[in-house]
Amino acid sequence: MSFRSLGLKEPILRGVLAAGYETPTDIQAHAIPKILAGLELIGLGQTGSGKTAAFGLPMLDRLCGGEPGLRGLIVVPTRELCVQVAENLRVYASQAGLHVCTAFGGVDMSIQESAFKRGCDVVVACPGRLIDHLERRNLSLEKVQMVVLDEADRMLDMGFMPQIRRIFVRLPQERQNLLFSATMPKEVEGLVQDFLPNAERVQIGTRSQSAKTITHRFAAVAAVDKQDALERLLQREPGRVLIFVNKKIGCEKLGNSLKRAGFPADAIHGDKGAEARHSCLQAFSRGKVRILVATDVAARGIDVDDIELVVNYDFPLGLEDYVHRSGRTGRAGRTGRALSFVAPMERRLYEVVAAHLQGREVPDAPKGPGRGYGMPKRREGGSREGRSSDGPKRGPGGGGGRGRGRSTASASN
Ligand code: AMP
Repeated sequence: MSFRSLGLKEPILRGVLAAGYETPTDIQAHAIPKILAGLELIGLGQTGSGKTAAFGLPMLDRLCGGEPGLRGLIVVPTRELCVQVAENLRVYASQAGLHVCTAFGGVDMSIQESAFKRGCDVVVACPGRLIDHLERRNLSLEKVQMVVLDEADRMLDMGFMPQIRRIFVRLPQERQNLLFSATMPKEVEGLVQDFLPNAERVQIGTRSQSAKTITHRFAAVAAVDKQDALERLLQREPGRVLIFVNKKIGCEKLGNSLKRAGFPADAIHGDKGAEARHSCLQAFSRGKVRILVATDVAARGIDVDDIELVVNYDFPLGLEDYVHRSGRTGRAGRTGRALSFVAPMERRLYEVVAAHLQGREVPDAPKGPGRGYGMPKRREGGSREGRSSDGPKRGPGGGGGRGRGRSTASASN
């Protein structure tokens, strides 16, 4: 299967070449011909499977050669994702004479407005800033032919549903809608019923695909022992590691502790200014910072392919977050690992995820000892005051394991 066989026009194929892609990913092979044919699609599943090109290439293809003006709209939940999607689209559009603009908060509106005036065929926008521009008449959606709603479930989590509806009612009746979401909560389903009732559903990254690329492991670690366990783990991890925590304050604290302990680490969360977040992401993607501690929302824009390990330092509060977090590794066909620390009070959350993984990734989890990563040994004599004497055990339910355990998805096997 080649990009040429999907029916893309020459200038767009040259953009694909500029991006360095040789063969389409599964979602691209499925979605591109359908979108080119004018169908509406709902892409369901994890990130990292090439969905930006899956919607970006056919969108640019359909706009290529038409009258200039704003005809493509892509709505995303975060500034980071906005920048990332626009960067990718600019490469794909580089040979087609199409202009891609961004609209996100935290920067001067006039800079974005000037860019719109210079020419804008596609805008990649966060909902709040897009509405601001629309209300000031800096932009008009009246010629929009194609709309993409990316990470719809994340928009919901971030409280953007009312804004999304406000944007949708301003769009022309005649248009092609595409929606991407890792999960389908009922509010997103409601949006689909209202705005894309006839859309075809496409699974992004099938079950077997994610099983092949991501290994899921779990370790029972008392809350008070997590930092020690993490530091021991990081000492043995040479690659890029993304660590998730649930709260901004915990994120900052953990990032600082790791830095103090001499790790090339930083923290990213919503209380950091837009510029600080941007430079932090750049340092991570360029490898200056190898270990990044993040909250769920702040991690959304991370588009780094070679994250080798995702650590859930705090267990995610829901299945959707688990799926999003682990989707940051094992991207674009690479293998990846997700390791979750499970404190006793997080066991219920773990059980929800374990039930979901049952019959999915679990069968592909490494079985023999010594494969994947074992939990590192506790530091000899290094236990801090007040720490429980139990080290990580074999699986969250594991009891009995002393000091170490290769905790694996076997807890749910
Ligand atoms: P996405 O899911 O769109 O965030 O893409 C994940 C990563 O895969 C990005 O770094 C893309 O540049 C890369 N990518 C997307 N499509 C392809 C492809 N067909 N071949 C190689 N890399 C790709």
